[in-house]
Order: sequence, then C-alpha cells, then structure tokens
Amino acid sequence: MPSLRLANLIDGRLQAPRRDRWLDVFEPATGEVFALCPDSDSDDVAAAVAAAQRAAPAWAAASTEQRARLLHRLADLIEARLDEVAALESRDSGKLLSLARSLDIPRAVSNLRYFAAAVVPWSSESHAMELGAINYTLRQPLGVVGCISPWNLPLYLFTWKISPALAAGNTVVAKPSEITPCTAALLGELSIEAGFPAGVLNIVQGSGPSVGQAIVEHPGIKAVSFTGSTKTGAQIAKAAAPHFKKLSLELGGKNPAIVFADADLSEANLDTIVRSGFANQGEICLCGSRLLVQRAIYDSFRERYLARVRALRVGDPLDASSDLGALVSQPHFEKVMACIAQARDEGGSIVCGGEAITLPGAHAGGWYVAPTVIEDLASDAITNQQEIFGPVVSLIPFDDEAEALAIANGTGYGLAASLWTTDLARAHRFGAQLDFGIVWINCWLLRDLRTPFGGTKQSGLGREGGVEALRFFTEPKNICIRY
Ligand code: NAD
Repeated sequence: MPSLRLANLIDGRLQAPRRDRWLDVFEPATGEVFALCPDSDSDDVAAAVAAAQRAAPAWAAASTEQRARLLHRLADLIEARLDEVAALESRDSGKLLSLARSLDIPRAVSNLRYFAAAVVPWSSESHAMELGAINYTLRQPLGVVGCISPWNLPLYLFTWKISPALAAGNTVVAKPSEITPCTAALLGELSIEAGFPAGVLNIVQGSGPSVGQAIVEHPGIKAVSFTGSTKTGAQIAKAAAPHFKKLSLELGGKNPAIVFADADLSEANLDTIVRSGFANQGEICLCGSRLLVQRAIYDSFRERYLARVRALRVGDPLDASSDLGALVSQPHFEKVMACIAQARDEGGSIVCGGEAITLPGAHAGGWYVAPTVIEDLASDAITNQQEIFGPVVSLIPFDDEAEALAIANGTGYGLAASLWTTDLARAHRFGAQLDFGIVWINCWLLRDLRTPFGGTKQSGLGREGGVEALRFFTEPKNICIRY
C-alpha cells in the first residue's frame, strides 16, 4: 500500500472523498505507485462550492492588506520547506530535483508574493465629464471561481492561478492535475497553517471528467481559469458557454525558435537554444519544438547543436548530473514514442535519440526518452504541426525572413516564439509579425510576472499575469455620478 494518502481541502478541513474512491499516483522515475489521490466527484465539488460561497462575503470585505498578509504567510511556509516541496514535486512528476528546487518551487513562492504585493497598490480608473459628472470603476471580486491546472509545472501553475484569484478577493475551488496532485495537497495543508479562513481556498482532487467538469458546470462558479491541452480547453469552452462564465484558457503550443544567420551563437546562447527544446524533458508549454535555422548557417549550426544534444544525460531525476528526468506518465511516454514513430513514417530522419531509455536498477520501470532531433520533414508534416510535449525537436531550414515567418506562423497554435538575431531592425520587424502571444528575442523563458501571458489561435483565450489576471478575476462596474 502506498504510504501517502492525499486529502481534499474543503471548508478549512482536510477530507477524504465522499465516495472513498482513490486514484493511483505514480512515481515516473520508477513507474511505481507511491501515493493515493482522492477520486472526488461532483458532490465533493458541490460541498467545496457551498463552503466557498459561505466564505465569500467576508473574504471580499477583507482589506487587500489582510489578504496579502495571508498570501505572504503561505509563501513563507512553502519557502521554509523548499527542499521537501521540491523533492515531492520531483517524485510526483519525474522532473529533475534541481529544476524543482531552482525553478518550480521558487516560482510558486514568487507567484504568491507577486500577487500579494500587486493587489495592494492596484487602482481602478475614473473619468471626469465636462458636464459635471464623474465616472469611476469598481473592480469587485466575482465570488467563487474555479482554477484547473495541468501536470507539467504542478505547483508553479497552481499558484499562478490561485494567487491572483485570492488576492482580488474571490474564494476558490481549485483542482490540480490528478497525475501530479501532491504539492497542491501540501499547499492545502500549509494554507490552514497560514491561517486562511475556512472555505476561502478549497482544493478538490480528482479526474478531469469528474471534478474538472463539475467545476466548469457548477452554476455557483463564476469564472474558470484553466491551463491544459487545447482539446480539454475546447471541451471547457463548450460546457461553460451556456452559463456565460468568464474563461481564461492557457492551452497548447507548437513553438518555433528561429535562428538567423546573423545570430550571436555564443556557447551560452547555444545552451539556451538547447534548453528551450529539452528543459523539463520538453514538457513546458513554452518549449521550442520547431527549430528554424537559416540555410546559410544550417550545417555548422546543426553540427554544434547535435553535439550538445547528444551530450545530454537522461537519468535519475535526483541525480545532479542528469539533464533530463522521466516523462510524467506511461500514457504520455507512449504518446511521445508514437509521435516519434509517426515522424519516421512520414519520412523524417531521426538524427539524434529516437528511442526509449531503460535505466538500471530501481529505475528500470521509469518512463525515459532520449532527447530526439528530427530532420527532413516539411513544415506542414504532422510532426511539425501537432504538439508532442516531449523531448523532441524538429530542425527546419529556411532561406529568408518571409519564409521563416510563413513557417513560424504556419501552425494552428500561437503561444510563444523565440528569435535569434543581432539585427535590431529585423528583431522589431519580425517580432511584431509573429502571430504569438509571447515573443522572446535572444533569450528564452525570461519571465517578468507583470507582463501579459497567453497565446493566440488554438493556444488560448485571454491573458494571465500582472494586472491582466487581476482584471480577469474581477467584475468592472462603472458608476456615473452627476454633481
Ligand atoms: P489536460 O488538458 O489533460 O489537463 C489539464 C487539467 O484539466 C487537469 O487538471 C485535468 O484533470 C483537467 N481536465 C481534464 N479534462 C477536463 C474536463 N473535461 N473538464 C475540466 N477539466 C478537465 O492537460 P495536461 O495533459 O494536464 O497538460 C498538458 C497540456 O497543457 C499541454 O497541451 C500543454 O501545452 C498545456 N499547457 C499550457 C500552458 C500554457 O500556459 N499555455 C502551460 C502548461 C501546460
């Protein structure tokens, strides 16, 4: 029997699911079950919504300083247990412990602190009219909101959603991914210790079709902030439409990294380009899985790039010398391997990797895939169009700016692009024409929490981050007063 049995957080208390049903939680590094996650249902969601509704008036009436103080306290508690939380995140997701320690958990702490700080000076607009009237806008909390997050950056994305929701004065019913539920469950425990009033933050664990759908359909939930796949986003949009709920959808991507012949390809920049494809085993929605390289430097770039990718070590996520850990689950592992097989079938050459890796000993049952680079596929090949979300990068040559732009913009997605050039005019010109919500120039994954975050086309709807998130989680009400 797994030793770790997670709980829901409903109405300020840790609770088992009403039906007493449980889901296995796997350790991707070994393939073994190590925890049990509540397999909750719509009754658990209804109980959470009722608790959140009871808590909503007092939480909305609390001062922003009071709300901020609790968010800061929760951030402090997570930070004080950084090692423990990072180890749990790594065990649950297969990601490198070093990455969980340096990126995931510190960023979760920053999310809480950022929105705690941002909400205090946040102000609304006023518009004076010459005729002797003034308009002012109240930004009022929506009430109870739903937050649904995925498995790839579990606590990072969970806190990215609940922090602005709570800071803006809403009470929350949240659901982490059932594949990586552990750190959110721990956060629930810590929120009690931090002193959040009962019902302000509720965490209902379970599957998407059961708990997720119940959150989306519950009439008491006024808005849903969702991060996950485009397919699930479309289902959520459909289910939410008849209820006219506010929706924020952060979905999939097929991001390009575009390297021009004039790029500064220093060792450090080349490392960033490699990282942009393979960090977290490629399981970051912002990873560049299409690497477009100008033909004039294609051969020399390819040689240097492949040498680096071949040197990446796939290994135990706890081992500091590993560069890639395990993929998150067996189904995901199988999906990525099927995508590689499909690339072969459609005529792609696998120039690096392409195979599963079996580690020795206790890790033999883990889900490891070699960093894989594919060549010789047209930009409209399925491999270059569909999101793989694994350690797989496709190399695509281009001749000039016009062709690069057509290839980069030529998928159904529009999340993030990165561009490598030393030509400043080109950087601005090209950046403005890229049909993506986020464009990085000569960098990747440089994140400022004040900036709008989100995608175009099938990568989503709406923007998160900074005041965009606070706006999403509030209802603007205009009051016009004549004097
Ligand atoms: P997923 O869509 O399978 O699941 C995401 C969450 O939605 C999970 O909590 C899941 O339980 C829940 N869910 C599933 N079905 C549901 C339903 N019918 N109703 C309500 N909730 C439901 O996605 P995933 O596999 O967990 O995550 C990987 C995907 O997330 C990739 O496509 C990736 O690109 C995307 N992603 C996007 C961003 C972004 O910011 N745009 C960030 C991270 C991940």
